[in-house]
Amino acid sequence: MAFTGLQIFKYTPAAQKKEHTNCKECGCPTCMAFSLKLAKQQIKTDKCPYLTKEFVDKYNEELRPAQKTITISDLKIGGENVLYRHEKTFINKTILGVIVDCSEKNFMQKINDICNFGINIINEQQKIDLIILTNCTEKIDNLPIKTITEEDLNNSGLNIIHEHDFQTTKDILITNRQKAILEKDENYSAPTCVIMRDENIDIQCAKASYYLCKYANMIVFPSLDKEMLSTLMLLRQNLYTDPQKTLQVDSGLYEFNNPDENSIVFLTTNFALTYFAVANELSSIDKSSYLIIVPAQGMSVLTAWSAQTLTPETITKTLEDLNIKNKVKTRKIIIPGLLSDIREELNQACPDFEFVEGTREASDIPEFVKQLDTI
Ligand code: SF4
Repeated sequence: MAFTGLQIFKYTPAAQKKEHTNCKECGCPTCMAFSLKLAKQQIKTDKCPYLTKEFVDKYNEELRPAQKTITISDLKIGGENVLYRHEKTFINKTILGVIVDCSEKNFMQKINDICNFGINIINEQQKIDLIILTNCTEKIDNLPIKTITEEDLNNSGLNIIHEHDFQTTKDILITNRQKAILEKDENYSAPTCVIMRDENIDIQCAKASYYLCKYANMIVFPSLDKEMLSTLMLLRQNLYTDPQKTLQVDSGLYEFNNPDENSIVFLTTNFALTYFAVANELSSIDKSSYLIIVPAQGMSVLTAWSAQTLTPETITKTLEDLNIKNKVKTRKIIIPGLLSDIREELNQACPDFEFVEGTREASDIPEFVKQLDTI
């Protein structure tokens, strides 16, 4: 773990009551200010000439990346510094590769299938990252996906595990990552690639899901199984998003099923999961609608309400910015059921509209819409 500001401060002249205390030569007003900056890596150790060599060596050792980064055809692999994503974030997502045997008759078809496969998850296009070519005698150019020969993969510097039994593979993956991160042991610093064997797809999927979580930097599959890889891509996206940054969509007015000025109008926050939950329901019902997305720093409805990013003021401002008054004839706006406490306040703050309490769960929207005429 990197040094904290307080830990660094103990090594400065101020804490040790030595000459040069708070001398400002580093450009900071105090040794404490310098320590806090150094902890955030916003300043270099050489700015203070009074730190001991012993401390500087320790500090540099802490900063040394625990795991090496290996680059294959522009794909960065490894370089991780933590065991768990909530400690900071994972850096380079697990590479998903598929093997293609060029001695097979239909190998070009297989390559095309891999290249054409992709899914969109929360506005992010997910694709296979790498094709591993075996028995390849000719170069295959102009593919939209990176390729590597089996031989080059073996010589890439990755720690390659040919998957046999789950227990052994799991133990190697965990030991390697723990030794690399906790002990900074260079013998374990190479990123790990697991080559899956051809077996029942459910078992392959269960094993690969575990290896993805702990701690494969690359997983290579013997063939393209779209359902399994879609599952793994979803899991990977969850693991490799930065837990300190919420997934957001742009604020604005979204349309479902060709709305016109008489369509129903819903409103919610710009937290991506909230947006997609509501959007899925609105596209599935047999009525047209609008969805107003209020900018709320990517927070869900309750969090945004508690953090005061979803208030009568922010909602009123969004309605004005989007010119809702002139875009729709209806004067009813359906707000999330979780906002029932501010409904009256909203009606007063924004008298041009009537705010109607909607559902607490997006999944209840279709039933709610059926009953709308009676509201
Ligand atoms: Fe403290 Fe900065 Fe002076 Fe070093 S250079 S002793 S950190 S004030």
